[in-house]
Amino acid sequence: MREKIVFATGNAGKMREIRMILADADVEVLFMKDAGIDPDIVENGSTFAENALIKARACAKLTGMMALADDSGLVVDYLNGEPGIYSARYMGENTSYHIKNHNLIERLDGVPDEKRMARFVCAIAAVLPDGTELVTEGTMEGRIGYEEKGENGFGFDPVFYVPEYGLTSAQMDAEQKNAASHRGKALRKMKQTLYETGIWKACI
Ligand code: IMP
Repeated sequence: MREKIVFATGNAGKMREIRMILADADVEVLFMKDAGIDPDIVENGSTFAENALIKARACAKLTGMMALADDSGLVVDYLNGEPGIYSARYMGENTSYHIKNHNLIERLDGVPDEKRMARFVCAIAAVLPDGTELVTEGTMEGRIGYEEKGENGFGFDPVFYVPEYGLTSAQMDAEQKNAASHRGKALRKMKQTLYETGIWKACI
């Protein structure tokens, strides 16, 4: 029987990406709802890694399964790293991303290309039933655009322009984004670490 693991997210955009990135791993991925848990997690860490660990620990404790968690966000250089670890709460959780994206564009009004650098950062934490904890990180470099472009992805994707592709991350298709993204990179590193340590058995 395939090992069941729980992934600590309820964000539909992230869930779609995570399912695709973990499709080749020999595990059954349950999200919190599938696992029947709805933990009240206080993300009071000061880094992406700390917050990912807080979420993974809570889910491992509640389910007794191996838990993975992601904490991610957008870091804008011109805004001294804002919104960073507060990305999900930027302008309030119930404000639409259309409004949030326009707010970012306005805050960078008149700022030239070379000062619009930004990156998506993602930390993935794994917490095992025996208490072992692992963390990996990935980033995707880009720039804040001048207008929203693209219908794919979620969150800040329409204003995140990736020069390497000449597209915003909302214009990339799912395969392109997973290949280039902070979450794809961090999650593939975590898979590799889990195989290298023998915690997961390679299924090839
Ligand atoms: P978390 O759920 O606390 O990790 O918050 C992540 C937040 O960062 C999301 O709600 C988005 O605002 C932003 N974010 C992270 N990754 C992405 C991405 O791939 N595209 C767009 N926005 C993202």
